[in-house]
Amino acid sequence: MSGKKDPQEVQKRMRFLEKEIRKHQKLYYIENKPVITDRQFDLLLEELQKLETKHPEFKSKNSPGESVGSDLNTTFPKYKHTIPVLSLTNSYSIEEALEWAEKVSGGMDLHVDLQWKVDGATLVLYYKDGILERAVTRGTGQIGDDVTANALTIKSIPHTLKEKATLAVRGEAYMTYEDFESFNEQWGSIYANPRNLTSGSLKQKNTEDVAARPIRWVAFDAFIKNNPLKKDSEVLREIESLGIPVFADNRVVKISQLKEVISEYENKRDASPIPVDGLVIKVDDLSIREDQGYTAHSPRWAVAYKFEPEIAETEVEEIEVFVGRTGRVTPRARLKPVKLAGTTVTYATLHNADFIKNLDVRIHSLVKVSKRGEIIPAVEEVIDQGSEQPYVFPKKCPSCSSKLVRDEDAADWMCVNALCEEKIINRLIFFCQRKQMDLSGMGEKVVRFLYENKFISSLPDIYRLDQKAEELSEKEGFGKKSVEIILRGIEKSKAREFRYVLPSLGLREIGPSTTEILISNGYSSLDSILSLAKSDDAEVKLTEMDGIGPRTAMAVIEQLTDKKITNEINELKKAGLQFESQETDAHSDLPQIFIGQSWCVTGSFENFKPRDLAMEEIKKRGGKVVSSVTSKTTHLLAGEAAGSKLEKAKKLNVAVINEQEFIKLLVE
Ligand SMILES: [Zn+2]
Repeated sequence: MSGKKDPQEVQKRMRFLEKEIRKHQKLYYIENKPVITDRQFDLLLEELQKLETKHPEFKSKNSPGESVGSDLNTTFPKYKHTIPVLSLTNSYSIEEALEWAEKVSGGMDLHVDLQWKVDGATLVLYYKDGILERAVTRGTGQIGDDVTANALTIKSIPHTLKEKATLAVRGEAYMTYEDFESFNEQWGSIYANPRNLTSGSLKQKNTEDVAARPIRWVAFDAFIKNNPLKKDSEVLREIESLGIPVFADNRVVKISQLKEVISEYENKRDASPIPVDGLVIKVDDLSIREDQGYTAHSPRWAVAYKFEPEIAETEVEEIEVFVGRTGRVTPRARLKPVKLAGTTVTYATLHNADFIKNLDVRIHSLVKVSKRGEIIPAVEEVIDQGSEQPYVFPKKCPSCSSKLVRDEDAADWMCVNALCEEKIINRLIFFCQRKQMDLSGMGEKVVRFLYENKFISSLPDIYRLDQKAEELSEKEGFGKKSVEIILRGIEKSKAREFRYVLPSLGLREIGPSTTEILISNGYSSLDSILSLAKSDDAEVKLTEMDGIGPRTAMAVIEQLTDKKITNEINELKKAGLQFESQETDAHSDLPQIFIGQSWCVTGSFENFKPRDLAMEEIKKRGGKVVSSVTSKTTHLLAGEAAGSKLEKAKKLNVAVINEQEFIKLLVE
């Protein structure tokens, strides 16, 4: 008998596949750092599922072939989904999609729903009597992470519906390409694509951090309590009328039109402002859905049609590595130039050392590169390794040659040398950016030139540049006029608000949101923050602030007591930078009755529409506004239909104030 494999080998292969699948599920869902493509992952899963059908005797009890992968994270409360949240079966060709259609229709020309398959993170919203009660990630499909506080900061998620409906909505959190790019430009994000940044954001511990990220959300499926509607498309229209966002180009077509319509969508995908990686095709008639039911993995009545990624083949000419402002070392492939999706591509990202190792990318390898969700193309597959040796990731920093240190949490290699030139240059570049100190005329090229020609070597040097104005204006490419523009920009930056100055320093964990939290807790000058960092109970005081965890607290203390950093800060202060927040004075005419208090606002109000107006009143009187009720919250302002926050406030003994009482406080 040929083709029969040694059972021991089969068993070994199954265990290996389980291990691999678990590893990649973790990288994808929890760490947001996939090192293989979706297609490669699907192949592993398919192989395991096939072997399990053939050899049920070897199947593991908790086989990953049965579950849909999990994004569970220990820091969030768990919630058991009351609706099924399964993943869809993927089809990679029109033929496969049509095969599904034939099976599901039993020869009838049924109506199906077509929707873009958004490349984001699934987020299920539960509304009760028209109020958003809970937002839960997909998790295992059965149990998800309750990320309600974070979801409340997403602007396209309605907090209340137009009617008192009770329903569960499956949808996708996502980010447009444009928003992703400007976020990366501003913060130097470590995320490879909008999807990774989106799902990473939903799991942020600081709600304020999430609020700063341009996440959107759209519904693709809903379960309405006591639903009288018979069709999926009707359900979607209904929720849209309740105020829930639904894409306008969802369509209902007959199976006989499917082939034609799929290629119509395929032609439109390049112009899509949001990352889409395919189409979701669902049977429109809900009673047919009920008959079809589910397999262990996914619904039978729906399928995901995955677009063929735009792919080109080319050769890797070189693997280059770079070190950034924070010390993270990232690799990329320099390619023999090739046309891809209308542009000529010369570089492709390789993500990190693990990615290179997994695909076994070498210099002179023949590779497939694609533009999927990524802005920068990615190496998708190695067609031919070539004859070079396997690539060895550098052990030393490409800039300063100091030994790299592994950051296990992020699967990255880091340069930890404070004197590393590339780190210093990238920090200078960051400081000058429009969204930081906004120094006109000081783009990346100019900053590099100034550094390499010893005009500047540290942040305070920027403010001494006027002393070298003449020398600089004699350099090639720098007339008197351009030097003048630079100096004027530097002068102007001295008036930049404190809330921009502190994050511009590029210190670890001290970004805009930490700065805002410090200011709103009364630490509105650098001096007060420095003496806080020095004090004996600094850690306690910092972690008591709503939104600051131990990791951030330690980063603040370590860096702001560091001699080198404090010296630098003092020099910048002498140069005339704003190290004190001026903004509280704007309302000093109002009595600061809410100082030291932390308010949460929920429900709807008669006199404050939208309720942001109530929040403004609190802030103007020195109070802080938070988006969720925690043990650190002091007051809950509860309007009509206050919901779960009211319950939580009562449980935690948080003072509950109604609208009338609040108005009384304001006028007294
Ligand atoms: Zn270095």
